[in-house]
Order: sequence, then C-alpha cells, then structure tokens
Amino acid sequence: MAFLVEPIPPREIPLPVIAGIRRIVAPNPGPMTYHGTNTYLIDVPDGVVVLDPGPADAPHLRAVAKATNGRAKAILLSHGHADHCAGASVLADMLGTPVLGHESFTSRVAAITGQLRHGDRIGELTCLHTPGHAIDHLCFALPGGIVFTGDHVMSWSSSVVPFPSGDMRAYIANLAMLRDRGDRWHLSGHGPALPSPSAFIDQLIGRRLKREAGILNALEPTTCTPEELVHRLYEGRVSPVFRAAVHNVRSHLEKLRADGRVVSTEDGRWHRVDSRVTQKVGCL
Ligand SMILES: [Zn+2]
Repeated sequence: MAFLVEPIPPREIPLPVIAGIRRIVAPNPGPMTYHGTNTYLIDVPDGVVVLDPGPADAPHLRAVAKATNGRAKAILLSHGHADHCAGASVLADMLGTPVLGHESFTSRVAAITGQLRHGDRIGELTCLHTPGHAIDHLCFALPGGIVFTGDHVMSWSSSVVPFPSGDMRAYIANLAMLRDRGDRWHLSGHGPALPSPSAFIDQLIGRRLKREAGILNALEPTTCTPEELVHRLYEGRVSPVFRAAVHNVRSHLEKLRADGRVVSTEDGRWHRVDSRVTQKVGCL
C-alpha cells in the first residue's frame, strides 16, 4: 500500500501543520520511529497543549517549552511507549503543567498526574480511547475532522501490535471506528499529516485481514512457531524489524485463537482447529 514519505525535517523548530497546530520532530529516528516522534503544539482558546513530548532529549524539550511561549496548559500522552512520553516529567517541570493520559496508562519511563477517559474534553479536544497498538492508547479529535492518531494510524507505516501488551482484535475494530468517522486529517505520532484517511485505513484493515488469511493458509497443513510464520510470510524481507513482525504475527494468532480458528501446543507451535493434520511438521 502507498505510505507517505517526507524529507528529514529540521530539529528544534516548530513546523506548521494546520492552522493552530505545529509540530517539532524529536531527534529519535529509527526503523520504528521514521524521522522521529512528532511533538504537537495545539492552540486552545486559553493557551497551548503539548501532545507527546517524545524522548528525554534536552535540546528537543527546551525547544518545545520555548514554542509554548509561556502559555502551556497541559501535556497529553497518546500512550506509554518511551518514544512518546520519556520526556514528560522533565517537560512538566519546565512548564509547570499536569501530565494527562488514559486511566490505564502504563509506562516504564513516565507517569501521569491526571487521568483521561473516552469522551473527556480538554478544551476542544475530545479523547478517543483506541486500544490495539497499546492498551492505554488515546487519539484526540478536534472539531473540523482533525484527529491526532498517535501510533494507531500512521501515515508512514503500518503499526506494530505488540504481544502481549497489544490487542489485534481491538486494533482492527478501532481502525474501523476511525475510518467510519470520515475525518479530513489524521496527524500521527510519526510522519507527515495524512489527508482523507478513510481509504488509507481501509487498506490498513485489508492488509491485516490478508495477513490473517496468510497465517491460516500457512498453518494448513502444518504447525508453526510465530518465528517460522514470519520467515514464511515475509519471505526474508523483515530483517530490520524481525521482532516487530513476530509481535504482529503473535498478536494475529491470539486473535485467531479468540476467534476459535487456531490453538497452540505446549511447545509453542500453532495449528488450525479445522486442520486434519495433527502431526508436528515444521513449516519451513
Ligand atoms: Zn507506540
């Protein structure tokens, strides 16, 4: 499918996105983060809200603090992964603001000082609880069809659904929810703004369903470990993100188990419930 690309952005500089919204791209590029995490500065009637401070990088956080121009009201966290929230406490100390995340927020590198739930409002922003990529994941919707989608919908790549902290069934259901909203813009945690996202999300869902069918196909008539499935399904194209691919496949298998389509054995091999083959035959 057609993902978006953009040139390497300048660091420590607020870049205009849409009227009233700027981003500063953190200096944490990588195979899972593209050019880096987008730290958004969102104008609200009485100040500025910061969404996802990014990593604990001092020059980046100083630039974010400076860009709020003394008007920061709150720091919002899309979820508890370090590339989005490790700088939260340092930035909160600099700005004197609360740090808000979903009530289920969990992180090894950050803590929240206030809890958010689905439907809560922060100024004009509405919280949308979107578990899948992470159980504590929040998107934030603005009037006019603009949604900050964190890592749930990303313009530059598909998302990892980690095992066991992610949830493939919820991930796909929330993709459909976001698609059906029919918004105009998705502003994701990494990469450029995504216009008219519904068709793009349809392709993301199609990609997942195709992967699911591929897994079922690969398990007929054999048994496989998740690692063997990755080698088979991705045909050696996944070396930079092999562990991420294993996570995705494992999450697919958990969904298929919940759907009653596959089961696992004690030695970590998986097979189809409807398969007539019960002998343990490697799939490679
Ligand atoms: Zn993440």
